[in-house]
Amino acid sequence: MPTACRAATVITLAGEKAARGRAALEAPLRVEDNAVILAEDGVILGVEPFSAFRRRAAASFTFTDAGDVCLTPGLINAHCHLELSHTKGKCAGGKGFTLWLRSLVEVLRTRCATEETRAATAKALEDAVASGTAHIGDVGSRLPGMVSELAERLLAGLDRERGCRYPLTHFLELIGFTPPAPEAGIPEELRAGPWFLPASAALPPRRYADCALSGHSLYSTAPEALQAAHALCRRTGRIFSVHLAESLDEDECIRDGSGPLHALMAELLPAPTRAWGTSPAALAGKLGLLDPGTLAVHGVRLSSEDRLLLSRSGCSVCLCPRSNAFIASGRAWPTAPEADGILFCLGTDGLSSNTDVDMRKEAAAARDAYGLPARAVLRMATVNGAGALGRKDLGTLEAGKAAVVGVFHPDKVSFLP
Ligand SMILES: [Zn+2]
Repeated sequence: MPTACRAATVITLAGEKAARGRAALEAPLRVEDNAVILAEDGVILGVEPFSAFRRRAAASFTFTDAGDVCLTPGLINAHCHLELSHTKGKCAGGKGFTLWLRSLVEVLRTRCATEETRAATAKALEDAVASGTAHIGDVGSRLPGMVSELAERLLAGLDRERGCRYPLTHFLELIGFTPPAPEAGIPEELRAGPWFLPASAALPPRRYADCALSGHSLYSTAPEALQAAHALCRRTGRIFSVHLAESLDEDECIRDGSGPLHALMAELLPAPTRAWGTSPAALAGKLGLLDPGTLAVHGVRLSSEDRLLLSRSGCSVCLCPRSNAFIASGRAWPTAPEADGILFCLGTDGLSSNTDVDMRKEAAAARDAYGLPARAVLRMATVNGAGALGRKDLGTLEAGKAAVVGVFHPDKVSFLP
């Protein structure tokens, strides 16, 4: 039987495409008061005023009243590392990027019980879904197979009628300069290249359609690997993602081939990056990595020229304001006029640099950090995230889209226009 869910307020973003530029992000929102979302088999049939619904067809729907809440499209967390959930509270905050990364590497070196890792990941997934997240761009370099298994288990326990569908895009992350082990279980087309993924990265073949590729960064992944992964993503219509312009240390490492991050990389990798004499964003452009199918993550350290370059490329940038604040790596400037062509979305990043995976809190942090109205960050967290991850079934509440919603209590985080 089809379902009908009434709420005091529904923000559908119906008909909207991903918003680029401040004016589009801040455009007034259409708000439906006292409305119902009609759905069947997890797909939206329509959104209409409650009065019309009651007159027309109430008897043929299973009805739920969500009460005095605001329903929005399901939230899109465009960048997370679920496999790092067990590192929550264990990494160095407030001391800059290199010290944070060094502390993360140390935590990952100490053997962590598999059960602890699984339990922390399962909890993060549950928390994300429970807080209205419809989809996560999840970066995995070590345990995507485990994350995928937990996501399938969570999905099996959820009510499909609610519109829940597999909640992850697996960005298989390439780090370093050596090829993947043959036994890695990575599809052949994703394995051919100068990178590695360990055996534990294996994903079941039924999940290959949910795979995309991600380079860790310009300072930790071979340029040829980044280019090959990017080219493969273009050929196969997948999103290519890479951490980009996250910190001052990264700037120094790429530009001058020196500094604390370069020293750390020299300890960890056989061939740390050379001095490129340019900013990370400019290097990404030079390597041909920037286009509308690329999702760059962070974009904190961007000069005006870098912003123009990213704008003209049409790429997406995932902002992670709470992660940047935790690490003390700086603040992005999405409102700069020269950034107008960039598609900005939001991500929590992993729990190694955040306290939770609640996208409502990330959106509130973005609103405060960037001085944007709630409607702008709501778009970033919904329709823009769906655009950045190439998900046409998500991002708005309208006929044919997934019936999965974010729920906002007006007294806690006001997202009313
Ligand atoms: Zn990240």
